[in-house]
Amino acid sequence: MTKISVVIPVYNEETNIDFLYNRLIKVIAQMGLSYELIFVNDGSKDKTIDIIKTLVEKDKQVKFIDFSRNFGHQIAVTAGLDLSLGQSVVIIDADLQDPPELIIQLYQKMQLGFEVVYAKRRKREGESFLKKITAKWFYRILKKITSIEIPVDTGDFRIIDRKVVDVLKRMPEHHKFIRGQISWIGFNQTYVEYDREERHSGETGYTYWKMIKFALDGITAFSGFPLKLATISGFVISGVAFVVLLHALFTRLVLKDYVEGWASIITSILFLGGVQLIFIGIIGEYISRINSEVKRRPLYIIKETNIDNK
Ligand code: UDP
Ligand code: MG
Repeated sequence: MTKISVVIPVYNEETNIDFLYNRLIKVIAQMGLSYELIFVNDGSKDKTIDIIKTLVEKDKQVKFIDFSRNFGHQIAVTAGLDLSLGQSVVIIDADLQDPPELIIQLYQKMQLGFEVVYAKRRKREGESFLKKITAKWFYRILKKITSIEIPVDTGDFRIIDRKVVDVLKRMPEHHKFIRGQISWIGFNQTYVEYDREERHSGETGYTYWKMIKFALDGITAFSGFPLKLATISGFVISGVAFVVLLHALFTRLVLKDYVEGWASIITSILFLGGVQLIFIGIIGEYISRINSEVKRRPLYIIKETNIDNK
């Protein structure tokens, strides 16, 4: 039986795969466990798939899943988990930002009776100021507005037990936020700290657009707070409007003194218009996700794979 599966989502990583493979193999040899490495090629436009296939030829523990197009990092991880067989499964990035050597510590900690051991970033090297600051605030806000404990400063680099993988398979949501799903599942979870390194080579596949979409997926999947905000502001604004109304009636009827209040009318119209548009937008974000769930399309399409337990 396979002891450990390593799931590696890859998108345009031709210059990193060999380095990653060599480091992974060293680590796993040291651990002395039976293993499989699952590379999920997420519609790369470079030579990534050829390099993976070369590895497949020389090492029969190397598995690959080749997608029909780019489905995104979270879906690539999901496919790897779906087809993995290991008793424990490691999720790791292909760009060597997650040091493979840490897997030993993750695995050892797991043996103390944990189903999930995630790697928590102590510091992050070589990433833009904007990326670090947005990530920092995103995780802190998410923590505030969700009812589950999503750990801060943590990516998907972690080791999880087969039990957790089996539950994840029963959560086939389209707008995936895997780290949130894993927190939601529960069991015993802990972490190991590490310093996140710079990307070995190549460029990030996470554009700002993908990051915004990912952040919205995380929030909408685990929190109804933005919707509640609409209700709360509705009450607050109505309250204010009621006071203004009383004031207007009082000056008009009792004091018999009124001016044509163009400025106050136009500001309240603009203000209310803005608030309404924002909340229609927020409701729209939720509805569009409901829409994509009800279509029940497959999460991903596999073009080719050497794994037969589909
Ligand atoms: N990745 C992927 N599909 C994508 C974008 C990225 O499978 O659409 C992979 C990528 O090859 C890497 C991991 O996901 O192994 C993390 O992506 P990246 O390093 O680009 O993100 P960052 O570390 O900059 O957040
Ligand atoms: Mg990276």
